[in-house]
Parts: sequence; C-alpha cells; structure tokens
Amino acid sequence: MEKITTSSFYKYIELENPEEFQENLLEYCIKLELKGKVLVAKEGINGTVSGNQKQIEEFEKHLLSFKDFKDIMFKRTETESHPYRKTHVRLRNEIVTSKFGIKTEKVGKHLTPENLKELYDKKDDFIILDARNNYEAKIGKFKNAVTSPIKYFRDFPKTIKDLEKYKNKKIVMYCTAGVRCEKASALLIANGFEDVNQLQGGIVNFINKFPDTYFEGRCFMFDDRISIATGSNTKDIAICEKCHNPSGNYINCKNAKCNKLMIMCEGCNEEWKDTCSKFCRNLSNN
Ligand SMILES: [Zn+2]
Ligand SMILES: [Zn+2]
Repeated sequence: MEKITTSSFYKYIELENPEEFQENLLEYCIKLELKGKVLVAKEGINGTVSGNQKQIEEFEKHLLSFKDFKDIMFKRTETESHPYRKTHVRLRNEIVTSKFGIKTEKVGKHLTPENLKELYDKKDDFIILDARNNYEAKIGKFKNAVTSPIKYFRDFPKTIKDLEKYKNKKIVMYCTAGVRCEKASALLIANGFEDVNQLQGGIVNFINKFPDTYFEGRCFMFDDRISIATGSNTKDIAICEKCHNPSGNYINCKNAKCNKLMIMCEGCNEEWKDTCSKFCRNLSNN
C-alpha cells in the first residue's frame, strides 16, 4: 500500500481577504484530491493535509507561492491512513481557539529541535512547559515537563498563577506543532515572564529529527489518528483504565452520546470494542 504523507503548517499573518483565500484554497484542495482540515482566519492559517508524496509536494509549492506564506514551515509525518476522511477548509475567528485575545506580535523566542536537544544534553537549568491540555500530556510529554491541568486551551490563562514561580527562569514551551505556543508564549511575556522560548514546529518537528530521545510516550493528535508514535521504540507512559497495564492507546467511546476519551489497551479493546462501559457497549451493538 502506498504510504500517505501528512503535512502540518500554520502562520500568523494578517490576511486581507480571508473569505476569498478560504474559497480558493478549498477549491484547490478538492481539485488536488487532498484530505485534511485547514482553518483560515483574519489572523492567518493553520492546517493539516494528507495525500501521496507528489500531491503534498504540489500543495506545499502552491502555498509557498503566496507572498504571505513564502516562509511557512511544513512538518511532515508518514501514516498508514488519512488523518481526516474529508476535505475541510473553514473560515474561523481564530486559527486556534483561545478567546483570550492576545496578539502574536511579541512571542517567545523560537528554539530549533537542535537547540532544545542541546539544553537537555548539557543538563541546562530550564523549565520545559507543556502548553497542551491535560489529556494530551497524559500519554506523552517531554522529559521533566511541567504539564497543566487544563482541558481546553482557552483556559491557559488560568495556569499563569501557578507558573509565577518560574517568572525569572528560562522557559521553553511546546505544543504539537507550534501554533498554540505562539499565543501562549505571548501571554506569558505580557505577564512579565522574562525568558520565554518556544519549540519551533513543536513535538512533530522534534521527533522527526530526534526520535526516541527526550520526548517520552506518544504524541496526541486532534484527528482520526488520536495519537502517533514518537520513535521506533515508543514507551507507554499511561495506564489502561480497564486492566491497569501500560498503554498509550486512546479510544473515543463509540456511543456518540458518550464519546468519552479513555485510555484502553488493544487487548481490552477487543473485549470492549471502542466503548467505555457495558452500558455503551450494549447500546452501540443494537
Ligand atoms: Zn487493558
Ligand atoms: Zn461510553
């Protein structure tokens, strides 16, 4: 079977006519027969598309041909199946829902994966801060990362009080592919944090260059994959909620009214068939 190439990208830039851009890009993606999800807003674009390697190369070239996106960065992953079943290009108020209204003018300094690896290698004094939601960090995170209890990114401002103790420390924040850290780092800077850095291209960029090093566990994804391995030797850092053995496998309960996200190993899932409980299993078998 032909491998599927996935490309993730974002750029914060004031778009003059997001409506027109969205319409044209949707048409282009459909014509090229790409699958994926791209959000377009006044503040920029953020998306993931998938196809064969040739289609992805063509798409990336197309996006780079716009003056606004000539320096956009693509993060690729190889997958067995498409992360999205359809092709969505949607107009939104924000390219990542934050609702805390921060401008991305003064953002954290971008560190490359090489920079971050060096900090670890040298055992430098720094705080590695996970800007993602609690359930994402549960199955995978950077070594020694400070994680946050939030369920939604819009609640990130609530974590600042707990982070005050790191105000004068060197902070390196990260998220999946970088788009959330632009806003989260701007927020920390606006709140007087002194040395705020962010991992360029996020976890996806880091594990492409340094798999099986300082990122431990699996990387959560907001698409049909739910998570991806972060190397050839990915350890499970979470526990199956049924049998309590190590697992990094999330399921979304098949009962649409429940839709609970829970960690369940493949063995247990054979019995539970993508449902969380007897109640949901009975319901979804009828
Ligand atoms: Zn289990
Ligand atoms: Zn359920």
